[in-house]
Amino acid sequence: MPSWIGQAFRRGILTSRFPRAPASREEVPETSRPPVLPPGLERIAVLGRAADDCPTGAITADGLYHGRCIRCARCTRQGFTFGGRALANASRPEDLYSPGGGPLPERLGPAPLAGLGRSLQLFLVDAGSCLACNREVLALANPYYDAARLGITFVNSPHHADVLVVVGIPTRPILEPLRRAYEALPGPKAVLAIGACALEGGLFRGNPGTQAPLYETLPVDLFVPGCPPSPLDILAGVLTLAGRMKCLPGVPA
Ligand code: SF4
Ligand code: SF4
Repeated sequence: MPSWIGQAFRRGILTSRFPRAPASREEVPETSRPPVLPPGLERIAVLGRAADDCPTGAITADGLYHGRCIRCARCTRQGFTFGGRALANASRPEDLYSPGGGPLPERLGPAPLAGLGRSLQLFLVDAGSCLACNREVLALANPYYDAARLGITFVNSPHHADVLVVVGIPTRPILEPLRRAYEALPGPKAVLAIGACALEGGLFRGNPGTQAPLYETLPVDLFVPGCPPSPLDILAGVLTLAGRMKCLPGVPA
């Protein structure tokens, strides 16, 4: 027996079991989870201090808007932790606002592609990313995440796609190609915005060469927050659009 076959038997299956089984802690590390203000702290004082420290304006005196959070961890100096559960994906920006900085309710977004069965084609557009979100999305095609086992593949033309996946803050030159790519998708179709930059511009919000947020350019169906989100968060977003998610990564059913 060739040695590589023997090695395969010894190692067993290494591909993630998500979504058939909940994600492990290693698959959704704490740093990819949202910050949360634990109970028992003097909220108004902590939020005030953390708001002064937060580089993106995600924290205000009233709460935390996860759409702007870049996971820089500065707020941990004031008492926030990253040990919370995975963040719900959302169909509206306001669903990512947590009054008082506590955890958001566990919630799955809408499923506009529920009628498409088990086959989903993704067309990825990098509108102006730092490449980290881009890399996490493309990780879905590697043998560990192996999205193809779930019928999810990447295509090279929007004409063949069901989902327009957008990463990065939209730069002005990409706005028209983005609109054309969206128009080229046959229906039913959906737009998935990945990461803080695509949601609200992240650290680059207000840059004169950009136009954030993405939802002012395209009708975004689902937001997956993070900087970058983990591949399983992104996979959960894609499966949510198809109505195939029972629970979010790290959140028991
Ligand atoms: S981790 Fe998020 S909320 Fe905390 S300071 Fe950084 S950007 Fe602001
Ligand atoms: S959200 Fe963060 S990781 Fe993603 S493109 Fe923007 S800066 Fe990079």
